[in-house]
Order: sequence, then structure tokens, then C-alpha cells
Amino acid sequence: MTTGFALHCISIYDRGTRIDDALLVIRQGRIHYAGPRRERELPADLPLIDGHGWGVSPGLIDLQFNGAYGHDFTRDPSSLLAVARRLPETGVTAFLPTFITSPIDSYIEKLNRVRIAQQAQSQRGETGARILGAHVEGPFLNPAKKGAHRQEWFIDPTLEALEQLQPLEAVRLLTLAPERAHGLQAVRWLSERGVVVSIGHSAAGPQETCAAVEAGAALATHLYNAMRPMDHRDPGLVGALLVNDTIRCGLIVDGVHVHPLMVRLAYRLLGPERIALVTDAMAAMGMPSGESLIGDQTVYVDETSARLADGTLAGSILRLDQAVRNMVAFSGCSPAQALQMATSTPAAVLGLEGEMGRLAPGCPADLAIWDSSLHLQATFMDGRPVYTASAVQPLFASLPSPV
Ligand code: ZN
Repeated sequence: MTTGFALHCISIYDRGTRIDDALLVIRQGRIHYAGPRRERELPADLPLIDGHGWGVSPGLIDLQFNGAYGHDFTRDPSSLLAVARRLPETGVTAFLPTFITSPIDSYIEKLNRVRIAQQAQSQRGETGARILGAHVEGPFLNPAKKGAHRQEWFIDPTLEALEQLQPLEAVRLLTLAPERAHGLQAVRWLSERGVVVSIGHSAAGPQETCAAVEAGAALATHLYNAMRPMDHRDPGLVGALLVNDTIRCGLIVDGVHVHPLMVRLAYRLLGPERIALVTDAMAAMGMPSGESLIGDQTVYVDETSARLADGTLAGSILRLDQAVRNMVAFSGCSPAQALQMATSTPAAVLGLEGEMGRLAPGCPADLAIWDSSLHLQATFMDGRPVYTASAVQPLFASLPSPV
């Protein structure tokens, strides 16, 4: 029985570096070797595939993803597995299903659905991008920066409210506005329990931002969007984040949410280790233009954006592989650095540096394979092809497909 394969004549992208003329050896679904071809004999016991100069990166990781292909997780959390099965089409092999603001007593059902979906993936061999836990965006947000969230469900993050987020193990990331009453206490409480806290939909100023970072906030949600902006007499949340030395920022690089020049500015100040590309994609991603839903609100979708009736942006229709290409075009970074912002940096946000988002020995062989213009050719999970573009299908035909 085949227990792996070797890919040669490839470039590999790993944590911001690129190695040409590389060799990748996969054994038992895990990365065995990823490095220069000249430093390793070709394995005699495995199928050898000529990569024709393709690029190979870790599979992409999306920290903010509300749904796609007609499904909205907030409205229908039972759609998690169906969407996860299709996500490898975009190079994504792990993600955080994101729930926008909902009545506080409704989270228990959503979070239980996440647990059930995670159990199905780990125990039943269910295929699809890995569900790493929920991103709970709200309900502890600032009405002044509500975006497409329903203000009537916003509440303060009191201990009583936090205790309704059950099961808490299903919450991986939580976006809140730290300036709300009990905000800093909530940041501490959540951080101590292993939840990554992200500042977002917030009008915090520099002092409140520093206090939140000191209390444990490790991320900011969609930098620039739904944030108190930067002014030369009032640096706001955006200014405070751009000069902070530790916090990482999610960034929606679809060319609509943030002007390309401001993407470049963020990149110059933060660099690839502190920007995580996110899609904030919603149900209309992968669907034709027209009407769609986010939560219970109608959204009007055109070629580039999804908006409420009043024009407010309501998530995106961005794919993460497109965000990688946009990042190169907007910021002038290298493909290796753009891929870093969709692989090892989001993994680091979740404390998973050693476990995913890298081509390091021992990591699961979750891979994205790219042509020279950074268009996705194939996606692998656990060393098996889960998506192959038609042009490369014959090359991987001999490998076992997922169960
Ligand atoms: Zn948001």
C-alpha cells in the first residue's frame, strides 16, 4: 500500500521563505522532509511526482469566515460540514467558522454544532477543511462601530454573559470592544481560559488599546474596518494598533474593504508576521450575484462586494487564494510573504505554530499547490488530494483519494 509520495522540481514556501529546486517527502499523511533537493536522496519506496516548477505552501488558514456557497453559519450552523468539504477548492485546509452577533442565549446551539462538527471530523473521517473552533464576533461590540451587526443584541461582557458561551471549548477566538463595561475583565477571563481575544468593532483609543493588549488581547479584527480611524490629532484604534509592537491584525484584502494603499501602509508597519489575511466571507462567496443573507439581514451582492440596503459592507465574497494574490499586488510583498500571512501567521495567532501552517517535519501534510501566477492547482490534506484543478488531475491520479 502506498504510504506517501515525493514531489520534486518544485519551489516550497514556508514561513516567508522560498526554496527553489526543492523536494517534499510525505509519509503517513505527514511531512517527512521539505527542503533543498540536493540535500536528500530521492526516496526509492515512494511514487515520485515531477512538480513542473509549481509552488507548494502549507494549506491556508482563515480566521474569519461566516459561510459560503449559499450557507450562513450564524443562521444555519448545521451547514458547517457541507461548507468545510468545499473549502479546499480555495486552498483553505483549516478555518474558524464565524458567528456574528446573535442573542446571547442562542450561542449554546451554535457552539454545540461546532463541537459536533469537530467530532465528526476527528472520529468519522469526515473530509473537509479542519474546523479549529468558532470565531465569536460579538455580541460585546460598540454600537458606534456596529458594521452589519444587529445593535439590539449588543450587551456588556459581564461574567454572567460570558458564562452563557457554552461549551466554551468550542470558542477559539472572540472579537469584542474592550471599552465596553467589564471589557478588560472579560479579556482576562477569556485569555485565561484559552480563548484568543481580538479587538474589533471598537472605538477604543490608544490607552484603552494598550490596556486591552496588556490584559491579553492578541489580535485585532479586520484592521481599519469598524474601528475608530486614525487622525493626526486623534490616533484612534487604528493608529494605536499600527504602532503597537506585539498585537497581530486580521486584514481583508479584497480591494473593497481597505484601499490598496492602506494595505501597503499596514504591511510596511506590521510586516508578514503580524498580518493575518482573512476573508470575512459570507454566504454569497462562490455564488452568483444577487440577494443573499448574513445572519437574518438581506445582503445585496455584486461582482466585488456584499452590502446591506444602506450600503454598509456585510462581509465579503473574497476567497483566501485571491487575497494572497491581492496582497502581492497591493503591498509589493513577495509570494512567500503573502502565503506566510495566510498560513504560519494565522496559525501563530491560535498558538498552533508547531502544528500547522508550516512545511515542517511532523506537521500534517496539508498543502496548497500553485502555478507561477499564484493560481491554485491542488489542495492536499493529510497527504491526500482533496482538490485538483483539471490540468493537474492526471499527475495525482495514482495517489489515494480521501475516504
Ligand atoms: Zn466584523
